[in-house]
Amino acid sequence: MSPADTSDEDISCRTKVPFATHSEAKRQWKWLRKQPGRQHLEIYECRYCPAYHIGNPPGFQTYRRPGSPYTTGHRTAA
Ligand SMILES: [Zn+2]
Repeated sequence: MSPADTSDEDISCRTKVPFATHSEAKRQWKWLRKQPGRQHLEIYECRYCPAYHIGNPPGFQTYRRPGSPYTTGHRTAA
């Protein structure tokens, strides 16, 4: 086990907003789902930090479709 290997955690937690509670996340999630190209966002409990995130669940982060308006490199401030 290498404790230095934290690339997964870094990507998941640094690019997403942490929510302390599920209901807090849900409030933001309802708003986000109205945005174009964000209909498949999900609320999930983070494996790496004690918080909830909104986004593609772990394991689906590389999900991409050619021609999709949604790109992982583009974020808008929430
Ligand atoms: Zn996290």
